[in-house]
Amino acid sequence: REKMKKILLKDFLNNYMDNITKEKKSSYFSSDECLRIIAKSLNKDKNYIYLHLNDIYLNDSDIKNISSMLKKRYIENIPLQYILGKQNFFKEEYMVNENVLIPRQDTEILVETAIYYINKNKYVSLLDLCTGSGCVGISIANNSNISKVDLVDISENALKVASKNICLNDVKKDIKVILSDLFTKLNTNNKYDIIVSNPPYIKEKDLVKLSKEVKNEPILALAGGKSGTIFYKKILENAYGYLNKNGMIIFEIGYDELEDIKKIIAEYEHYTYINCIKDLGGNDRVVVISFIG
Ligand code: GLN
Repeated sequence: REKMKKILLKDFLNNYMDNITKEKKSSYFSSDECLRIIAKSLNKDKNYIYLHLNDIYLNDSDIKNISSMLKKRYIENIPLQYILGKQNFFKEEYMVNENVLIPRQDTEILVETAIYYINKNKYVSLLDLCTGSGCVGISIANNSNISKVDLVDISENALKVASKNICLNDVKKDIKVILSDLFTKLNTNNKYDIIVSNPPYIKEKDLVKLSKEVKNEPILALAGGKSGTIFYKKILENAYGYLNKNGMIIFEIGYDELEDIKKIIAEYEHYTYINCIKDLGGNDRVVVISFIG
């Protein structure tokens, strides 16, 4: 029987790193990410891999798997989260794939703000528009007193991910996904106490400036039209028909969009601008709007 060729993990890695730096195929390389990718491929944890670099031998199929994952990461600039299939957000872990935006740390401020108002105002029902992976609505469901949550997205593939995340995070509330372009499939008989949204908000001209990694995220989840604010307009145009008295809308916004959004809010007698919360980088990030009927 032919003996299978096996390569020591440490030798494989050294060789790989040499090549990638020599050929300058990638401007960026992280050994931590590399260990995570290998751990995922060998179905072990990262620390185990680190401690056993000198005694793990790779067979042909391991090498093929690991090489293809490393290629995705370092040649194709696929974000690590898509390769590992997960991302931590708030107090949960979310499954992600290329059909959803990867949950961002900045968005945790949207979740925190919503939880604060839900508990303070004893809100019962929540609508999460442009839910994507479901991370906003699900983290709010799991960490507030809300009882009913609807997650809406225009992408069927995104909603598959959101549905999985409802199960993975064991949500014990009345929660469901709805395939709809914003409010189009919703009924005004069914009103909510609070609407939250992290819609696509990147301005058309800024799309080309996004990093190679972000360019591998769904454009549908990023592009906010010429002004970046098209979804805020569309949501505010309709939201008042779907809100209960004393209800509220909370948006995540682009760092330079507050003034534009204040102007949009002022066009409607239904809403009052309450405040804006900054992210950890000091940028305007979350806008709170109250519904005045
Ligand atoms: N904050 C995201 C980014 O960094 C954009 C998210 C969005 O468009 N809603 O690209």
